[in-house]
Amino acid sequence: MNRVFRLPRGGLYLNSQKDSVKDLPIRNAVLPPIAVVPMVQPDGNEVSCLVNVGDFVPEGGLIGKGKGKHSLHIHAPIPGTVRDIRRIPLPKGIEASAVFIELGGEFDRLGKKEVVYPWRSLSHRELKTLLIEKGIADGSFPLDGPVELLLINGMELEPYVCSRYRILVERFDAILEGIRILQKLLDPARTLVVLEDRAQQAQKSFWTSLSKEQMQDKEGGSGKEIELVQLEGKYPAGDAEQLVRIFFHQNVEPGRSLVEMGVTVVEVDTTLSVYEGVALRKPLMERIITVGGKAIKRPANLKVRIGTPIIDIITECGGLVHPPLKVVCGGPFRGFGIFDLRTPVTRDISGILFLTKDEIHSSARTPCINCGKCIEVCPEGLHPAKLFKLIDHGYFREALDDSLMRCTECGCCSFVCPARIPLVQGFQVGKLHAAKLLHANSSKDQSHG
Ligand code: SF4
Ligand code: SF4
Repeated sequence: MNRVFRLPRGGLYLNSQKDSVKDLPIRNAVLPPIAVVPMVQPDGNEVSCLVNVGDFVPEGGLIGKGKGKHSLHIHAPIPGTVRDIRRIPLPKGIEASAVFIELGGEFDRLGKKEVVYPWRSLSHRELKTLLIEKGIADGSFPLDGPVELLLINGMELEPYVCSRYRILVERFDAILEGIRILQKLLDPARTLVVLEDRAQQAQKSFWTSLSKEQMQDKEGGSGKEIELVQLEGKYPAGDAEQLVRIFFHQNVEPGRSLVEMGVTVVEVDTTLSVYEGVALRKPLMERIITVGGKAIKRPANLKVRIGTPIIDIITECGGLVHPPLKVVCGGPFRGFGIFDLRTPVTRDISGILFLTKDEIHSSARTPCINCGKCIEVCPEGLHPAKLFKLIDHGYFREALDDSLMRCTECGCCSFVCPARIPLVQGFQVGKLHAAKLLHANSSKDQSHG
């Protein structure tokens, strides 16, 4: 347990920017007067809307249903009346239909005593059905075992964001129950909880919860061990690809799924939702997020209802002290800039950052000086400068041959580049072109076949 694992190559030690917020307990945000719930999956695919304008929806009622295997159910985050259904812009540059619910009526859960349902006697099928019904898993989420390795990911290395850390510190009893549910579903040969070596409080919570469980003999002697492993806080050590490389000693090759490899990686936030969905029968309708950046008056860790517009979160945090130069949903490396403060919180964001000029690299792009810094930090061992040149000149086939698809878009290369070349954006564009190329080639092959 004392051993600290490390990224095998590349990566960055970042200034965490978390001091002002990491010790702030999670608090409930005020409910939004109007919740705006996008009828869309995290992957951008739309779901079928089950409600019409004028309908009353109860808190947690089903309002959107996935169309296929890869589709999640969507529930009303607040009770109220559907006032509008229209298309809105969302982060990641997508547009989707959204249901506008005006708060009103009785609450089914808020303010009521929490009922904990016994789940250990439930069958595999019943557990799976609950997770799908409550909008926590879609039909493609790996819920069948046995697997070789279950990795519970407690790493959070993006600057500013510490919502996951707070969940670990405050809710480990529930996370532990979530892990037990996942163990029952997946029957893993080995279960690892991965925590950052510096996250001492989170590690303490793990041991406290584990000994509490042993004292209560809750596990009932199933014999499934849970190991805590420490990982050095060097970004992007918490990426699934890196965790599998470090703890399963295999590379995740493009096109090969973790399920095929016998590994399941579950984030701690999802593990908490697994517990709440099964033991509390609670649909997914909230998100724990960090609100940070120098432009916001009172940074916070908030439990917010999905669909809460960002403008309401600004009010919740005391307003803005400066006009932000950039508002980001998620972390500064992997997050997405937003341009409309009416954009709602979605199920996949961990933070909202209001960044000022001195928190953003904003100098102009200059030519590559071949310094090699991007190569040094790439955890995949790629040659970012060369890849970018290929894409910039339209050589997508050559970029593919040069392992473009192995790029995980971690952003380390862009961060260190003194010439401020938008390397990651280039790789994102390159991948889109490469996918079209592959699609065209496979259609050609089929028509010749
Ligand atoms: S974004 Fe891609 S190329 Fe750049 S460092 Fe990360 S993996 Fe390497
Ligand atoms: S870090 Fe930037 S300037 Fe240096 S080699 Fe890479 S692309 Fe060129």
